[in-house]
Amino acid sequence: MLQAKTCRPAVTSLEGRGDVTRSLPAAASADEPPVVYITERPKFLEQLVRQVADYLTSQYPTTYEAYAAITVEDHIPGSDPSIHHIAVVNLATLSDTPSLLPSALFACCSIPPNRLVQGFEREDGVQEQLSLDDLTRVLVGRADLTKLDAEAAVAIFRPWPSPCCREIQSKNCLELLQTALVKPFGSRNGPKSFGPSWELSWVTDYVIDMNILFCPACEKLIARREDDKRRDIWKRLPSIFGLEVDT
Ligand SMILES: [Zn+2]
Ligand SMILES: [Zn+2]
Repeated sequence: MLQAKTCRPAVTSLEGRGDVTRSLPAAASADEPPVVYITERPKFLEQLVRQVADYLTSQYPTTYEAYAAITVEDHIPGSDPSIHHIAVVNLATLSDTPSLLPSALFACCSIPPNRLVQGFEREDGVQEQLSLDDLTRVLVGRADLTKLDAEAAVAIFRPWPSPCCREIQSKNCLELLQTALVKPFGSRNGPKSFGPSWELSWVTDYVIDMNILFCPACEKLIARREDDKRRDIWKRLPSIFGLEVDT
């Protein structure tokens, strides 16, 4: 259903010698709309696109470790930065930087679907939207990621405390793990429920907000479980979004 793009509307060589870039023949297929290729683009514009793509690669990292190291403050400033993830997806395609796509499509999963479909109006008045392919990727990906987030929560709070668990709190950690596991299914009071985005953490947001106090050993254990789960999910992003894996 979701086919990886074998042919992108991109410039074949960004360090090209001339101002005219070759356009790739459109691989027309029944379920893929015809793609309009940019046949001529001034060299300075190519360089600009490349520079922006390079900058964005630092904001939309390819590895989980780099992703986890980015703090909220490092993200692109703006009154509504999340909507600009759409532009990053489009730029990844335009600049032929497929390595940006898993992380940029993942970022799009934090945008509510109605706003995602709408896109946003750029400063030049053009409505920036995802292509139909990318929109499908994000909507399918959202569903997969939400399911994986629920599975992650079950794994994170599985009732198996740390071997080093010392019951220094009033309740024992086994009971706390069971409470933590059951609560998100029952109520929607907390800030964190199952979802496609990682803006909130089961360990640092949910547990703290629910005022569940684990012993230090168990706190460390569940933090590691969440990290492991997210690292696993991160590796699966290209497959979740139906992208080619070319590393
Ligand atoms: Zn404990
Ligand atoms: Zn315990």
